[in-house]
Amino acid sequence: MKKIAVLGSTGSIGTQTLEIVRENKDIEVVALSAGKNVKLLAEQIKEFKPSLAVIGDEKLIPELKSLIGDLKVDIMCGMEGLIALATHPDSEILVTAIVGMIGIRPTIEGIKAGKDIALANKETLVTAGHIIMPLAKEHNVSILPVDSEHSAIFQCIRGTEHKEIAKLLITASGGPFRHKKTEDLRSVTVEDALKHPNWAMGAKITIDSSTLVNKGLEVMEARWLFDVDFDDIQVVVQPKSIIHSMVEFKDGAVLAQLGTPDMKLPIQYALYYPERRFLPGDRLDFKTLSSIEFEQPDMDTFKGLPLAIMAGRTGGSMPTVFNAANEFAVAKFLRKEIHFLDIYSMIEKAMDSHEVIKNPSLSDILETEKWVYDLLSK
Ligand code: NDP
Repeated sequence: MKKIAVLGSTGSIGTQTLEIVRENKDIEVVALSAGKNVKLLAEQIKEFKPSLAVIGDEKLIPELKSLIGDLKVDIMCGMEGLIALATHPDSEILVTAIVGMIGIRPTIEGIKAGKDIALANKETLVTAGHIIMPLAKEHNVSILPVDSEHSAIFQCIRGTEHKEIAKLLITASGGPFRHKKTEDLRSVTVEDALKHPNWAMGAKITIDSSTLVNKGLEVMEARWLFDVDFDDIQVVVQPKSIIHSMVEFKDGAVLAQLGTPDMKLPIQYALYYPERRFLPGDRLDFKTLSSIEFEQPDMDTFKGLPLAIMAGRTGGSMPTVFNAANEFAVAKFLRKEIHFLDIYSMIEKAMDSHEVIKNPSLSDILETEKWVYDLLSK
């Protein structure tokens, strides 16, 4: 039996992780966590019987207790609970399916406790990659990518040496507003932005896909996961999301991973790596697939990508500023308090006002996040 703890079990990645557990029968879930969705967490506790359950807000504990009756499970809340989950003595793999920078501390503590990390929470690597990657090496733990693009690259480089890699080619669908221009984006609504053409995901990442911020975060994530310079990472738009990413090698060979858009594949690959298992679901049908098209990303309209690359190249605390400003702005956009294009202006404002801290510590990162929130709240 493999034993896992799931940070963010009520979200899109969290629930799909539990579907894999349900289908395979040889994974034990030792701990689960939710932010606010008490009802779903209670159902998950009843089904998977973890020894620890964590809820975001202390005020929700009585409701959770009444929903689960006399089931034996420790209940905790807040950051203390997330860290207890991440370091749970019985777990081998920590699935980081939580959204946002709140995932950094539990991930760091999980690594220190020797847990392999199935990493979906890209914000952690974007802001603290310089802490996470050496720490993982020191504690001899694996960081197993769950993001479909990074899983694709991880699958393509299997059995190769790092020095053989020439370039990472990260594919992008282009999002729901592909081919639109800045003028068209002035009036787009939250509902428009939430209509991703190929993937069903949580709200924040879906908005990030529409701004191309998500692709920018993925470029930074790839830089840390695969130790490749920004000059050697290229974003390629491939609208149907059939190719999940590619790697060009020194001799010019390009390997790609293709498949139907289903996050269960990369999640399952991370959970069972290096084993590849049967996964129910649709297969690519090359009898009906007539073409695969490519485009260049429109960096003038979708400023999320160039701003992210600029933040990544600047390094230090700048990726945190980029990420925190985006988290702040996306939350406001989802509450319909700002327009779509204001997401870019808020990121630009925060980046323009920031004095970079080189090699930031965890507390520098968390203080920088707070600085961004204070700046943008004024
Ligand atoms: P969702 O919004 O669907 O789920 C987020 C999870 O985090 C939920 O369980 C939520 O709990 C929990 N959570 C949110 N805020 C808090 C908090 N303050 N305290 C405790 N728990 C909290 O996100 P996704 O599953 O879409 O994404 C998760 C991560 O994976 C993100 O970093 C995303 O970028 C990445 N990712 C997602 C992909 C996808 O297909 N969805 C693909 C690749 C990467 P609750 O709902 O109970 O409030």
